[in-house]
Amino acid sequence: MSIELRNRALEYVNAFDGRTLGHFINGAAVEGEGDRFEVFEPATGEILGGACDATAKEVDAAVEAARSAFQRWAATPGTKRRKILHDIADLIEERADDIAAMECLDAGQAWRFMSKAALRGAENFRFFADQAPFASDGKSLPTQDHLNYTIRHPIGPVAVITPWNTPFMLSTWKIAPALASGCTVVHKPAEWSPFSARLLVEIAHEAGLPAGVLNTVNGLGESTGKRLTEHPDIKAIAFVGESKTGSAIMRQGSESLKRVHFELGGKNPVVVFEDADLDLALDAVIFMIYSLNGQRCTSSSRLLVQQSIHDDFVAELAKRVKILKVGDPFDPATEVGPLIHRRHFEKVASYMDVARRDGAIIAAGGAPHELGNGGYYFQPTLFTGARQSMRIAQEEIFGPVLTAYSFEDEADAIAQANDVKYGLAAYLWTADVGRALRVANAFEAGMVWVNSENVRHLATPFGGMKASGIGRDGGDWSFDFYMETKNVALAYGTHKIQRMGV
Ligand code: NAD
Repeated sequence: MSIELRNRALEYVNAFDGRTLGHFINGAAVEGEGDRFEVFEPATGEILGGACDATAKEVDAAVEAARSAFQRWAATPGTKRRKILHDIADLIEERADDIAAMECLDAGQAWRFMSKAALRGAENFRFFADQAPFASDGKSLPTQDHLNYTIRHPIGPVAVITPWNTPFMLSTWKIAPALASGCTVVHKPAEWSPFSARLLVEIAHEAGLPAGVLNTVNGLGESTGKRLTEHPDIKAIAFVGESKTGSAIMRQGSESLKRVHFELGGKNPVVVFEDADLDLALDAVIFMIYSLNGQRCTSSSRLLVQQSIHDDFVAELAKRVKILKVGDPFDPATEVGPLIHRRHFEKVASYMDVARRDGAIIAAGGAPHELGNGGYYFQPTLFTGARQSMRIAQEEIFGPVLTAYSFEDEADAIAQANDVKYGLAAYLWTADVGRALRVANAFEAGMVWVNSENVRHLATPFGGMKASGIGRDGGDWSFDFYMETKNVALAYGTHKIQRMGV
């Protein structure tokens, strides 16, 4: 099966002229006129294909398509938008294997996770589709003399800029609510894994999305991304990526006062108390850092274990980390695939020396995983004996690398957990309900899971505090971002208006 799926994904890439992606603007594929950049296959390190950096003219054309489609899409009844978005979800489900295979090929993600991620993309469309008919609904806020009511309008054409880690799923998570709100979109996927975004825009049009409503431009952040975020006709930017890119985008969008929504980096703690169900906690700790090749914003990359159980827990953990199955993303048995790109591989590898210099112990992994085929494989790695002040406990490594250390008591656990610039997610394992409530309350994180790994309910808010983001997605929070709220005040004719100049 895996060979067949890989071949199908390769055929898709090969069908592009020169294996090079252009853009998709106003309902049609266009060949790019800008500089070509290469896209590599993480599992082999070989050139998979390429894409064109959008020129200023092409970015303008995509924004113009979104601008001219906006009025009509915004005025399309919510029930009709719902139907189209469900049709997109149907097609995503039909093509789920192809989508998952593209993520394996282009992003190096393991099949066992990608087959579910593709379906989650369809779920994202269905969830927001069902809210489309009610997206404009507001509140009634009457006073003695006025009836106030609120109503929401889609904000306009928006830019969606996504990273490379789970490109398809993340794109649907941002694009589906934008379309459900009545916004039109220009999407710029990450340059290291651009192919599944093309699948998405093709599927959307096959399902009946009108031309201009979703446009995809390829390109580099500093050129295409910059132009898009500076464009005066783009009203809001939904961005997922690194914290420092978020700062750049805020600067770029500031001249035209754009609304921004940022989902950024993380250095998320998982805190294990001595009274926790340690077997379950161990499973969750392993899953939350080594799945998705550790390239997951919500990964629990810092493990804080209570001193009394620390040595035993970490010893069991090290045994399991050493036998994680690293391999070809298409092999259904693979648990950890390759890193996305040579540059990212080098970044992750560089932390081995950082850990040694700072005095941490490499208890598992610590070196490239050699498959002899040029892929960017790195051994699942565990640092022990770390301290909160070390760089390996402060910086986002974004690979299959876990930093473990101990804490004494509740206060110490909270202080160490919060002692980072990030605040995306936090995980907590304890059997004591009171403690769970206290610690969850004290965590500086946008999302806390107690006795659980990252299990998403799409109606709940998703996002981070501190350097991990601005704003929330999910449920109605997404609509609040993509829509303007207007208040209308109607007088009952009972109040007195002050008379001046009489
Ligand atoms: P990145 O910030 O380098 O790139 C993300 C996107 O931004 C890419 O499409 C890139 O081309 C574009 N970009 C770069 N510079 C730009 C600029 N000046 N103007 C406009 N666009 C620009 O991030 P990455 O390396 O692709 O992804 C990894 C990061 O994403 C990690 O920090 C991870 O934590 C974060 N992430 C966060 C979430 C979340 O929900 N919080 C989810 C996934 C990934």
